[in-house]
Amino acid sequence: MLCQLPMIAQPPLPFWQTKTLDEMTLSEWESLCDGCGRCCLNKLIDPETDVIYTTAVACKLLDASSCRCKDYVGRKRHVPDCIRFTPETIADYGWLPDSCAYRLLVEGYDLPEWHPLVTDDAESVHEAGFSVRGMAVSEEAVPNPDDWHEYIIRIVEE
Ligand code: SF4
Ligand code: SF4
Repeated sequence: MLCQLPMIAQPPLPFWQTKTLDEMTLSEWESLCDGCGRCCLNKLIDPETDVIYTTAVACKLLDASSCRCKDYVGRKRHVPDCIRFTPETIADYGWLPDSCAYRLLVEGYDLPEWHPLVTDDAESVHEAGFSVRGMAVSEEAVPNPDDWHEYIIRIVEE
């Protein structure tokens, strides 16, 4: 006997696999951030070579435990030069970590298996070791940028 296989409905693809960055809603765009906190680490730039050094010294508004901004909506009032990433400008920031969801999508990759949107668990980015939890030092503890070179953790050739 030859029987037909039952039709099994496939779940819809997630928005980041079907939409371009430009097509996403603001809430979808914001949800792409994995909460690693790595873009909130202060950087040093060599004025002669343009090489950028990422340090472990974090912005004063970064919550070292959650790795989230303590006042994301009002952050510009406290940190005027905090960067607002947009679909138009995200590719300009070569110092973003390789694991950053925005960078991955711009470069044509999918989100990693540990991304909170994939796991439905905000802790998964920390458990996978991709966040700054346990590593970041607040700039309030190291206020002088002249001391930040002692905390360099990553070098980016621009
Ligand atoms: S590096 Fe990317 S994913 Fe990580 S906190 Fe910054 S914007 Fe979000
Ligand atoms: S103001 Fe908030 S989002 Fe901006 S760098 Fe500081 S902690 Fe990060």
